[in-house]
Amino acid sequence: MTDVVIIGGGPGGYEAALVASQLGGRVTLIERRGPGGSAVLTDVVPSKTLIATAEVMTTLRGAHALGLRLDGAEDLAGAFRVDLAAVNERVLRLAAAQSGDIRSRLEAEGVRLIEGSGRLDGTEWVVASTADGEERLRADIILLATGTTPRELPAARPDGERILTWTQLYGLSELPKRLIVVGSGVTGAEFASAYNALGADVVLVSSRDQVLPGEDADAGRVVQQVFERSGMTILSRSRAQAARVVGDEVVVELADGRTVTGSHCLMAVGSTPNTAGIGLESAGVELDERGYIRVDKVSRTRARGVYAAGDCTGVFPLASVAAMQGRIAMWHALGDAVGPLDLRTVAANVFTAPEIATVGVSQAELDSGVVAGSAVMLPLHTNPRAKMRGIADGFVKIFCLPTTRIVIGGVVVAPIASELIEALSLAVREKLTVDQVAESFTVYPSLTGSIAEAARRLHSGALESVTY
Ligand SMILES: Cc1cc2nc3c(=O)[nH]c(=O)nc-3n(C[C@H](O)[C@H](O)[C@H](O)COP(=O)(O)OP(=O)(O)OC[C@H]3O[C@@H](n4cnc5c(N)ncnc54)[C@H](O)[C@@H]3O)c2cc1C
Repeated sequence: MTDVVIIGGGPGGYEAALVASQLGGRVTLIERRGPGGSAVLTDVVPSKTLIATAEVMTTLRGAHALGLRLDGAEDLAGAFRVDLAAVNERVLRLAAAQSGDIRSRLEAEGVRLIEGSGRLDGTEWVVASTADGEERLRADIILLATGTTPRELPAARPDGERILTWTQLYGLSELPKRLIVVGSGVTGAEFASAYNALGADVVLVSSRDQVLPGEDADAGRVVQQVFERSGMTILSRSRAQAARVVGDEVVVELADGRTVTGSHCLMAVGSTPNTAGIGLESAGVELDERGYIRVDKVSRTRARGVYAAGDCTGVFPLASVAAMQGRIAMWHALGDAVGPLDLRTVAANVFTAPEIATVGVSQAELDSGVVAGSAVMLPLHTNPRAKMRGIADGFVKIFCLPTTRIVIGGVVVAPIASELIEALSLAVREKLTVDQVAESFTVYPSLTGSIAEAARRLHSGALESVTY
């Protein structure tokens, strides 16, 4: 039997454990926090559960325009009070339940779970440190899936009460009066959007011209406009360099000398990989200059028999990619059929209001000439279903190859973009042409109608498309 030892129980680790067990490996998973890892316990599941509550508030805010009234209240959202203690209790309960489900599934598949910290001792041994002491485990195959930790600025150390990382937000029992969010990347923008919808006064400190600098620029512009219209303060081109607690306030110092005062501050300034102190050098595992583990497209590190998956590799920080890297590692290591990781087909979503979903090539790649293609952008406000639902912001964008008209990417900005992107994701994966997408029936009226319509407009010779 092949002994497989996995360090880290997030999606990279636990999905790999399931595959390894299915392929006949004897699998041990070492996790220091709980099955599901950060994805389930502190990152994806808690944040998306919180956002689900925030979405209801956003819907309530739009209710007046749809003709809904509540006697004695100006607007429906104003009639509701957010009980953050109850919201957070639900968030944490759901995360714990999800972790419990993963534990049950792993145990049912025969995976041995060790609660503790793992480290390498060469390429054939792993040491697990638990509350009961140390255990040495012999391994034919090792997978490192240790994830990342929120990055901290030395002059803005989180205290867990007023200066917080995203993992500490769920301890809040009352809505912050004024929440300063430092960082306008995906994490900062998602929490700024959610707390703004819940009714907190939010100040978003962004070092760039526009929020979400890593996303499609048109999409970022729409989200920024919606944020500003809803009353959020955005401090663009402003770099936070320090934060300190003064009485029951937080004062954030910007690099240009200005200060911002709030009741709480969320630091969302990126992550650092959990790759120090786990014996990587003893096995010859190579790190890149930022401290991430170097891997190839089948998740191999430079050390024989040692694989790595997920955020600790810095490849693409998404739970879905971590899981795929983990599965690929085990398919490869245990001799099953395997293809290399293909990032061109990854669908990703930013859970702001509205959401931004993307797949395949980006507008920036077309603009810079890295990829040749045509593009069309169709605003959602012309869509009949969007009008009925009071959706004014958002669009569908499709990119295709210039001659064959094969779909190579797309962007959807809409309240449920995460669901709508599937049609484009399938098109990219299966190399469908814009005509094939356009010819498939969509429900009338529906938001997906705009995807088919955009594809129709990309039919060769269409006037609205721009060829790069
Ligand atoms: C706020 C937030 C929201 C996000 N939302 C989404 C989303 O909506 N969709 C999405 O796809 N992605 C999302 N992500 C990204 C996603 O969380 C990560 O891509 C994913 O968690 C990576 O999985 P992983 O298995 O690599 O690591 P993790 O989930 O980080 O798990 C690694 C685990 O390893 C454990 N560990 C580390 N070192 C050791 C050791 N030596 N011994 C034992 N255990 C160890 C850690 O405690 C951790 O539990 C979000 C991230 C953040 C921060």
